[in-house]
Amino acid sequence: MTDIFNFSAGPAVLPKEVLQQAASEMLDWHGSGMSVMEMSHRGPEFMSIMDAAQRDLRDLLSVPENYQILFLQGGGLGENAIVPMNLMGSRPDATIDMVHTGSWSGKSIQEAAKYAKVNVAASAQGNGFSRIPDVSEWNLSASPAYVHLCTNETIDGVEFHSVPDIAERTAGAPIVADMSSHILSREIDVSAYGVIFGGAQKNIGPAGLTIAIVRDDLIGHALPCCPSAFDWKKIADNGSMYNTPPTYGIYIAGLVFQWLKRQGGVAALEQRNIEKAQLLYQCLDSTDFYESRVEVPFRSRMNVPFYLRDERLNAAFLAEAREHGLIQLKGHKSVGGMRASIYNAMPLEGVQALVDFMQEFASQHS
Ligand SMILES: *Cc1c(COP(=O)(O)O)cnc(C)c1O
Repeated sequence: MTDIFNFSAGPAVLPKEVLQQAASEMLDWHGSGMSVMEMSHRGPEFMSIMDAAQRDLRDLLSVPENYQILFLQGGGLGENAIVPMNLMGSRPDATIDMVHTGSWSGKSIQEAAKYAKVNVAASAQGNGFSRIPDVSEWNLSASPAYVHLCTNETIDGVEFHSVPDIAERTAGAPIVADMSSHILSREIDVSAYGVIFGGAQKNIGPAGLTIAIVRDDLIGHALPCCPSAFDWKKIADNGSMYNTPPTYGIYIAGLVFQWLKRQGGVAALEQRNIEKAQLLYQCLDSTDFYESRVEVPFRSRMNVPFYLRDERLNAAFLAEAREHGLIQLKGHKSVGGMRASIYNAMPLEGVQALVDFMQEFASQHS
């Protein structure tokens, strides 16, 4: 087997132990004689997988009782429409406040505008998305339907390291957070949010599963146009089985949740993630050969975009990295450069190997 370290932004690296377990159970899950892919989603075998996954996720994030965990389809981009369709029913004329901190929140803004009035309360576009605009300067509505944030911008490498304190200025409007690329990477206070959503393929499991954690009082307000299969009320009332859920994705996510528990839970992972990010950013800051364009307080622990000052070396960097077993480091096409995504399943040794290579490459090409 080829040993590599995979820095893809998503679909991304999964814990080897999880893949090995899935491989060993592929043809015969727990003596059932079936692959998980072949099971009825309503049979006792899959129901037990579903229940355990929901319970483990609830434990890992200490999700309060008054929040539903929904397993959906449609991805992060799907939620950009599904969220307003589910939240705007009782106040269709209300405004959605949105904060533009990078590519993904930009897409959310465009999509939400199809369903409601949108107020872009703040934008970092003028700064090339190198920072999060100061909360005191956000131009918030007095009573928005909700406030949308992308708490980790996967492409731009900007992360919220605390929850903005805006409840008094917005009449307690719920915060909706797109956590696709950093959910389970750090401890969070779920009760500070109304809705948390994310596609699984960054930090949880395979593409195809989307997770939403929704406060009870925000369920049951869908616009009439909302497709039934995306109506959180129907989905919650049916235990995420209104229609066939992405069963295999839920199974793998469940194995990842068990792996996270064996690692010591989210707090332990967070410590490791801090260590990994520090190692990489120190490398970037210690030389003029590389450059991080995100201001220090806003740098993401999960997605680290960086540039070679001499961009003519980009192709050589990627080719030599690959020879060292360091793959999928090319930056997103919209921003260029490089990007190392260092999710939960990336071990410290992977980041160390990347840093060792980067230092060697810099000394050879300076
Ligand atoms: C990847 C990503 C998305 C889009 O997810 P899809 O599953 O492709 O729809 C949305 N938001 C963020 C922050 C992402 O990282």
